[in-house]
Formats: sequence, structure tokens, C-alpha cells
Amino acid sequence: ANQKLELLGQLESKTADGVPIKLYGNIEFPEEVDHCIKRGAEGVGLYRTEFLYLKDDREPSEEDHYNAYRRVVDPIPTLPVVIRTLDLGAEKFPHSLEDLAEVSPNPVLGLRSVRFTLRNLGLFKTQLRAILRAAVHGDIRIMFPLVTSVLELRQAKMILGDVMEDLEEEGIPFCRDIQVGMMVEVPSAALLADRFAEEVDFFSIGTNDLIQYTLAVDRANPTVADLYSAADPSILRLIRMVVAAAAKKDTPVVVCGQMSGDPLYTAVLIGMGIREMSATPFSLPIIKQVIRSITIPQAEEIAAHADTLDVARDVENYLRGELKKIS
Ligand code: PEP
Ligand code: MG
Repeated sequence: ANQKLELLGQLESKTADGVPIKLYGNIEFPEEVDHCIKRGAEGVGLYRTEFLYLKDDREPSEEDHYNAYRRVVDPIPTLPVVIRTLDLGAEKFPHSLEDLAEVSPNPVLGLRSVRFTLRNLGLFKTQLRAILRAAVHGDIRIMFPLVTSVLELRQAKMILGDVMEDLEEEGIPFCRDIQVGMMVEVPSAALLADRFAEEVDFFSIGTNDLIQYTLAVDRANPTVADLYSAADPSILRLIRMVVAAAAKKDTPVVVCGQMSGDPLYTAVLIGMGIREMSATPFSLPIIKQVIRSITIPQAEEIAAHADTLDVARDVENYLRGELKKIS
């Protein structure tokens, strides 16, 4: 079975009627890039770099960052590698930074992700320098996590500009025309996607946090796990809004949360207009299998029907039935 999956990895990712759906891998450690390629990924759609911090007791240096990024990009210099800037905070707080952690009863709504890096510029700039330097060697792109307002995005981009100026003055080679994207994982970002689309090169919908913040359900709390669902009509509607706003500006939209690694949602995502997905490498062959067995009109019909349902449970049951029919 494993061999069959790896063979599938070599087949093209396109729908039964020939529309390409790009598949990328999510990684947490540089070594995982090899697994991504074996499983048929066309690049790395999400590199969660905070694991560089969680590995050691000391803060990573610019060279630690740089070496990790080279390790990812060197085997695949022509494929996209999306490096997400530090998504620290909430449940992800390393020992080396404990004195910067906030004491809050509600850290998920607190100083995390891009909010945290904007208040700790030294550490933010160290990472951005390493990304820009490594980007000389491949198709590296930058992505900011948990962007909530346009102002915040502009601030992050301004810091990126400052770092470029520093590298320029120091005569250090770097990539100036790097693509800059953002995660859409807070409802405010999805609601204002038309505004954000003016200022980024791509969107990546992080469904894990988008579900958490839209439904007000802690993604890590087992007591309310039954209320946490990608099939909730509110989530589907937000994804549609992002796709529509992005299409007006030709801004690519990737889905990179767990939803895109679950075959249950492949058809509905495609039916809503999603053409790129990033998921854990393990799930890529099965996702590709679903992609290859449906047509765009079929997927659109599935999405249209899902849209008529009011309750997550009904959407899930409906999608389960449809998946059975095609597999
Ligand atoms: C997400 O929120 O969907 C996501 C991809 O990021 P993380 O799971 O790292 O928060
Ligand atoms: Mg997230």
C-alpha cells in the first residue's frame, strides 16, 4: 500500500477534467522536506519555523535560522518554500524566551505570532535577515501569521523593508523581490480580505485557528472538541469570501490548516474555488486520489449543496456520503 501511495505521488495533481490543483507540504523540521517530495509535494506551503525555538534551550542565531532554511531550499531550488515567521505564543512558548512570555489567563487572545514579533524586533529582524539571505538560493517566500489588521501587516512589511536596507548597507547578498504573504486565520482578516489583497502576494488560509476564532472554541480543549468543525457553515462562508476577494486581485489562495489534509473536505474546497492546498506530507497521496477522481462541476455542485445546510453535523454527513461515492 505504501508503494502504491508513492507511485501516486508521481502522478499529476489534477482533477478528472484536467484542472491542476497544486499540492504542497507542511513541515516543522527541515529534514521533512525529503518526505514532502517523496509524497509528491510541489514545494513547501508552510514551514512552521517556531520549532527552531522549541528544539533548544537557547535562542537560535541568525546562522541557525539560515542553515535551517538552506537545508529546506537546497534540495528543491526551483520549488516554492513558504517560510512562516515565528508563530510563538499561546501554547507555543520555549524555555529560552520564558521571560518574554506574558502572564495572561487568555493567551490565545494575547501576545502571540506576528503581534509578539512586532514587540520583539530584535528576534524578528534576526529571522527576516536569515530568510532574505537564504532566498538567494531558491524560491523562498515570507508569510506572516495571525495578521488581524491592515496596520499590523503594514508594520511587518515596514520592518522587512528596514531589514533589507540594513543588508544592503552591509553589502550582504539577499533577495529583494521576495513574495510576501499572510495567513488568513482570524475572522477579521477573512472579512477584510479585499483590503489585504491589495497589499500581499498571496493568502494562506489557516483553518485551525480560523475555526478556533470564528466559533470561539479552543482548538486544544477536549471538553468542547465536538463544537470544533471545519464543516461549520460559517467557516465555509468565510473561505468563499476570501476566494472571491482574492480572485478580484488575482491573489493566490492556499489552504494550509488540517482541513486541507482531510479528504472529507477536498471536494468542497475545490468547489469553492480553492486551487492550492498545503498539508502534512503524509496526507498528500490520499488528497491527490480524491482530486483525480472528481471534476470541477461535480465539486462545485457539492459545495453548492453544502451551502444549503445549516449545521456542521449535516455538512459532515453529506460530505462523507459524497466521498464514499467517489472512492
Ligand atoms: C492554522 O492555524 O491553520 C495553521 C496552519 O497554523 P498552526 O496550526 O501552526 O496554528
Ligand atoms: Mg495558526
